[in-house]
Amino acid sequence: TRDCLERIQTTEPHLHAVLFRNDEQALEQAQAMDKQGPNPQQKLWGVPILLKDILATQGMPTTCASKILQNFTPCYDAHLVTRLKEQGAIILGKNNLDEFAMGSSTENSAQGSTRNPWNLDHVPGGSSGGSASSVAACQAFASIGTDTGGSIRQPASFCGIVGLKPTYGRVSRFGLIAYGSSLDQAGPLTRTVEDAAIILSVIAGHDPRDSTSVNTPVPDYVAGLSAMKDLSGVRIGMPREYWGKGLAPEVAEACTRAMDTARQQGAEIVPVSLPHTSYAIATYYIIAMAEASSNLARFDGVRYGFRDKDAQDLLEMYTKSRSQGFGDEVKRRIMLGTYVLSAGYYDAYYKKAAQVRRIIREDFLKALQSCDVLGGPACPTTAFGLGQNTDDPLQMYLTDIFTTSLNLTGLPGLSLPVGVGRDSGLPVGLQLFGAGFQEERLLAIAHVLE
Ligand code: GLN
Repeated sequence: TRDCLERIQTTEPHLHAVLFRNDEQALEQAQAMDKQGPNPQQKLWGVPILLKDILATQGMPTTCASKILQNFTPCYDAHLVTRLKEQGAIILGKNNLDEFAMGSSTENSAQGSTRNPWNLDHVPGGSSGGSASSVAACQAFASIGTDTGGSIRQPASFCGIVGLKPTYGRVSRFGLIAYGSSLDQAGPLTRTVEDAAIILSVIAGHDPRDSTSVNTPVPDYVAGLSAMKDLSGVRIGMPREYWGKGLAPEVAEACTRAMDTARQQGAEIVPVSLPHTSYAIATYYIIAMAEASSNLARFDGVRYGFRDKDAQDLLEMYTKSRSQGFGDEVKRRIMLGTYVLSAGYYDAYYKKAAQVRRIIREDFLKALQSCDVLGGPACPTTAFGLGQNTDDPLQMYLTDIFTTSLNLTGLPGLSLPVGVGRDSGLPVGLQLFGAGFQEERLLAIAHVLE
């Protein structure tokens, strides 16, 4: 714990990955645990970890990197935070993110951008960019991020670490401040597949406080890793839509090398198709913004955080608090989300998107009928430069081309570091998609490839 805190101290001036530091309490807790001695019952005894600042933490600020939640301190822990604490984890603090997890670069934070430890002029990805940057820079052994449209897998890929988005319903969303409720899922960002397996085994499982949490047994993910020695008998599908147009040559190269390794390890690589991939971004952004516009209605200046003090009446207080409290990207999404849900446009946009979502899911289920997992690049490029996409929101949305589909389907996905790009010298992530609740297999296959 002390080493991690020192590491945070020396690297934070460069990275700005941490919004709140829990130094004193963390050290006290670690010292108390040292006195008692190791507890073999706890899977994370004394392991220092960080949390994306969208997860509710009792007695610790939880801001979603938004001015509207500045000084908000929840009176309860998110379900997964309780699980981590029960298993002996030490919470070092809270990680920076794009405001309310809306973004792909951690540049939308009201607290300023986080940087990529591999090259400080580049973004760490987003929205869990603080988490990815911290773990890559060894500030903590793991961080918990959330993934609504790629926010665990894309920053993991940009920072050269492992990021796992579990199946929707695998990890309770109780205490995860909602962005797109039908898409959001929390998961680990770690430096190894084994660490991801350990963390998932702690945070997965049923929670009656989240009605979408699924009551299905949690396998021993760590034992699953040693059970698989090589990839003989494993079929990996290569969705053709992920390997063509728009893919940076250095990313294609690194991912192809990884697929060759899979073949050498005995895997059978088979071509598959996800024919509706080109509709994923439009579909995702309509659904995510619609849900966000509804979820963010609760931030009205009355119940939490920031309130404008000069308003003359209730309506003005709502308006002024929201106008000043939310950043530009969040406002854009609330407005677009309200629009696609409005009486005259609902059928044309939201309903259509919900229908296409179903078709995209069917593509995945069909491809997974003949394969154990699907493999492709996590992102079309390596980490882009700070400021490179900030003036053009559409360009920023397009960078999510390979990650958003998965959230529409609810299936699990993992990003695995597979080397650095020849041109940029920055990390490349290979993405593996699996069948619902088959994280065990996904992790085991990634472990062989690691
Ligand atoms: N970049 C996507 C968005 O801005 C995904 C974000 C996320 O997964 N939280 O919505």
